Amino acid sequence: MKKIIAANWKMNMTTTETKKFLNQIIKKIKISKNDIILCIPTINLFIAKNQTKNTKIKIGAENFYFEDRGAYTGETSAEMLKDVGVDYVIIGHSERREIFKEDDLMINKKIKKAIKEKIKPIFCVGETLSEKETNKTFDKIKQQLINGLLGIEKKQISKIIIAYEPIWAIGTGKTATVEEMDEVCKFIKNEIKNIYDVENIKVLYGGSVNEKNVENILKQKNIDGVLVGGASLKLEFVNIANIKI
Ligand code: PEP
Repeated sequence: MKKIIAANWKMNMTTTETKKFLNQIIKKIKISKNDIILCIPTINLFIAKNQTKNTKIKIGAENFYFEDRGAYTGETSAEMLKDVGVDYVIIGHSERREIFKEDDLMINKKIKKAIKEKIKPIFCVGETLSEKETNKTFDKIKQQLINGLLGIEKKQISKIIIAYEPIWAIGTGKTATVEEMDEVCKFIKNEIKNIYDVENIKVLYGGSVNEKNVENILKQKNIDGVLVGGASLKLEFVNIANIKI
């Protein structure tokens, strides 16, 4: 079964390192039947797009700003991403929410703008450890979905990929049990069905995915793919990308 394997490089890889790493992995990923999306730092998008042309690898950004253009020093617009050929963008990652104080309103504006520019959002949701421990996981995720998707129409919803990333599992080596992951991904699908009457939404799991646990994760009924952070910077990403389920 075809799955979505998305990478989030975060603030890693210089342009020189990007070229070298892509050279190492591109040929090896060729055999993959999965959809491969590399979300990488803005400065490397142009080079990566060129290096991966004629391959099945899609390139995504990790961030952008929702305004069209103007006095927003340091920011990158959706139009700029589109011009380079970017197909996907991560929106609402917990690191953007926590470190850069992006709230649901900002995330909602970004999702709308990305769709308008025909860039597919990878919309991240997830609970903190204390929310998990106080049984607030489903409330939190429901709220993030409602706020993030405000004003998104039925015909637009299947353009969005949703990534369930429990915050306590990101970069920690801890993962939810596969049953827990599957249950939350199922909940997300049900919520989308309740709001939009749409069933084909793709939901990924992210949080300490690696070459050892990926198979078991992807075997779960409600998990359509993975968003991989740390392990996407290593050659083990080839084994993740090539996984057959
Ligand atoms: C992420 O940053 O989206 C992520 C899932 O990171 P890691 O795989 O390192 O936990």
